[in-house]
Amino acid sequence: MQEGRINLSSDTQTRPTAAMRRAMAEAEVGDEQLGLDPTVTQLCRRAAALLGQEAAVLLPSGTMCNVISVLVHCRPGDELYAHHTAHVVSFEGGGAAVFAGVQSRPLEGGRGIFTAETLRGVLRPVSRYAPCSRLAVIEQTTNLGGGTVWSEAEIAAVATVAGEHGLRLHLDGARLLNAAVALGVEPRRLCAPFDSVWIDLSKGLGCPVGAVLAGPASFIEAAWGWKQRLGGSMRQAGVLAAAGLHALTHHVERLADDHANARRFWEIVRRCPGVELAGGVPSVESNIVCLDLAGSGVPAQAVADRLEQRGVNVGVFGEHLLRAVTHLGVGRAQVEKAAAALAETVEELGR
Ligand SMILES: *Cc1c(COP(=O)(O)O)cnc(C)c1O
Repeated sequence: MQEGRINLSSDTQTRPTAAMRRAMAEAEVGDEQLGLDPTVTQLCRRAAALLGQEAAVLLPSGTMCNVISVLVHCRPGDELYAHHTAHVVSFEGGGAAVFAGVQSRPLEGGRGIFTAETLRGVLRPVSRYAPCSRLAVIEQTTNLGGGTVWSEAEIAAVATVAGEHGLRLHLDGARLLNAAVALGVEPRRLCAPFDSVWIDLSKGLGCPVGAVLAGPASFIEAAWGWKQRLGGSMRQAGVLAAAGLHALTHHVERLADDHANARRFWEIVRRCPGVELAGGVPSVESNIVCLDLAGSGVPAQAVADRLEQRGVNVGVFGEHLLRAVTHLGVGRAQVEKAAAALAETVEELGR
């Protein structure tokens, strides 16, 4: 983060801490693609255990975790189901279509969540005319759903429908650990209903690069084939894995601070007339605050531009839609300062 700047545009805007950089500098390394990097091996074992899965593989990004999972689960002409705001539908350049030949069916629902009934209602009869219903994707926490946490009951209901219809179930767990901390449950419990899961290291966990994809050993073996084909195999990646191991030790429990800071942010901003949580989200559940400024009549871009001049960054996701994300690079005082600046700016521009 630039000195003095309060960057709430995303939890990707963290910088590795001094302690994380030391862990990276001291990492034991080897050739990752030959399976000979001991630090990568350690990270994969640790992540697999954390997520209750048989095996895991380190990938350069969450986007690659999603596309590889689609490639392993599906065949060309298959159809996948995800909320219409989901990353896999809206932010991956159509990767599922480009690389896997898979058609995405975006689902409706509030807070970035679709119900089991919605999923059941769109599944296809087996026929030579229809694409083959193959895969459902749940995003935990929901990103543009305002950081909402899927409950275990909501996931179980979707998993039941998936089971009845022979669908695979994939967890986009970019912020799964935020969900686990918010719910106060073990991550492995939240992963149990899924055929594949992953966590991002480069979001709230504060690493510079990386994501870990986990699942049954046979799934991870197939994922390795695509990792190689797509150019995701690495060499001395232990320096990256060391950051991940450091984060799993030191940066998980503290996600609760990010959640408290996000609630504090909303507590200050909500005093501003015409500002609501977007999409009818009743409360802030994790580290994401999506704001709907429509009631104030002020364009989101104008607010973001003015805030930028004041040393605060937020994300713009629509004409009246702003997103602020808390992370380890911003403390309580900075969050309060940013929230006050946002409220002032909306009031000024609304006059
Ligand atoms: C960021 C994100 C991704 C993609 O992860 P990258 O590491 O940025 O490629 C996928 N899904 C969700 C929900 C995300 O927030």
